[in-house]
Amino acid sequence: MNTGHPASWYAATATPFPALPALRADTRADVCIVGAGYTGLGAALALARRGVSVVVLEAAQVGSGGSGRNGGQVHTGQRNDQAWLEKTIGRDDALRLWAMSQDARAHLLALIAEHQIACGFRPGMIHARHRKGGEAEDAAHIDFMRSRYGYDQLALVGEAELADELGTDAYHGGLVDHGGGHLHPLNLALGMARAAMAAGAVIFEHSRAAAWRREGGAILVDTAPHQGKGGRVTCDQLILTGDGYLDDIAGGAARARVMPINNFILATEPLGERADTIIRSNAAVADSRFVINYFRKSPDGRLIFGGGENYRPGFPPDLKAFVRRHMLKVYPGLADVEVTHAWGGTLGITVHRAPFVRELAPGVRIAAGYSGQGVMLAPWFGKLLADAALGDRQGLDLLARLPVPPFPGGRLLRWPLTVAGLSWYALRDRM
Ligand SMILES: Cc1cc2nc3c(=O)[nH]c(=O)nc-3n(C[C@H](O)[C@H](O)[C@H](O)COP(=O)(O)OP(=O)(O)OC[C@H]3O[C@@H](n4cnc5c(N)ncnc54)[C@H](O)[C@@H]3O)c2cc1C
Repeated sequence: MNTGHPASWYAATATPFPALPALRADTRADVCIVGAGYTGLGAALALARRGVSVVVLEAAQVGSGGSGRNGGQVHTGQRNDQAWLEKTIGRDDALRLWAMSQDARAHLLALIAEHQIACGFRPGMIHARHRKGGEAEDAAHIDFMRSRYGYDQLALVGEAELADELGTDAYHGGLVDHGGGHLHPLNLALGMARAAMAAGAVIFEHSRAAAWRREGGAILVDTAPHQGKGGRVTCDQLILTGDGYLDDIAGGAARARVMPINNFILATEPLGERADTIIRSNAAVADSRFVINYFRKSPDGRLIFGGGENYRPGFPPDLKAFVRRHMLKVYPGLADVEVTHAWGGTLGITVHRAPFVRELAPGVRIAAGYSGQGVMLAPWFGKLLADAALGDRQGLDLLARLPVPPFPGGRLLRWPLTVAGLSWYALRDRM
């Protein structure tokens, strides 16, 4: 459950944002959106700009789900690589999905520029190999992306060069993607909310959508009481979001396919001059482990380091110590540095890591299960849900062709089976 913003470095440095009221009466809107993260806000902004009346219901606070807690890493492309997409849904759809991801990137940068969102986007994303070998595969990938997709933003980085760039010899080379980058994720969400509200969207916080049903031609969405009183939105169409925070309102089909897992991040104190020796180019970094370590520098020279996850409700009790262990494997020289913030968040994963984007019932659509890659994609998927609500289903139909099977084991057994599988891969990282 989402109880609001954690004590993260992001919350400590967020641009001021007003507390919004809870829904405590009945209201009407053309479209009701559940969830005020990137997906819901992207949809709200796109609809409101086109004169559609929109109500957003947020169970906790704007951006207090994954959108305000994540690593801020802007990845290129879809979550699944193009080779997997070609094999799975064919070359034509794979090409369309690549083009969609490039649209998503352009959309993100345009959002930031147009609405002057102070989220400090920085270009550059390094993928670092934690095992020896793999250089030939990386070179083949660069060639594949250039020759088949015309993408020329990738370059190999040798082991010594990477050690100098990152200030650690923990890695054996990798590749840099000049099309990726990083940003302040909560400020992006708050900026999107501000833009959506300026365009006319109405957002209610502390308003958990508890159930929806159809009555006559309309959809009725009831919220759980907040301080003793709830409300109802009567609407024509419903957009469901939630990713790792997806709850019963999304229905059994979605919950069988999108599983929540928790992932953790820390921020160090400002590193002073030492910051100049760590990630010299100021790119974002993600490594090749199954449980990925991902890190970058803040504008004030802290290391923001994500590492470690768990697969059960609840976070480890001492999060600072939990993530610090991962950080020290990459940067043993930071043992004397104080960890000032540590927090966790929940993300939704799917079996093949493809997002779950569907029309669940006439006029009821969902996007969730970004599997850890939503900063660039989710605002755009929100816009695609808005397009579908207005009758243009192209983007939704394309995404709906991605196979998203239920997790094996049915409702009762899927947890232990999947957790056993994920834990095995996590263990392999350590071998
Ligand atoms: C620790 C962590 C690190 C990550 N790092 C990265 C990264 O570096 N790069 C990247 O691309 N992606 C990353 N991600 C993933 C990324 O954050 C998500 O893909 C993205 O935020 C999804 O946006 P969303 O709007 O779909 O969901 P969220 O931002 O999770 O928002 C869902 C919202 O729905 C609300 N909600 C749920 N149910 C209801 C209900 N019934 N009624 C009302 N509201 C409801 C929740 O309260 C929540 O605010 C990370 C995620 C986590 C948790």
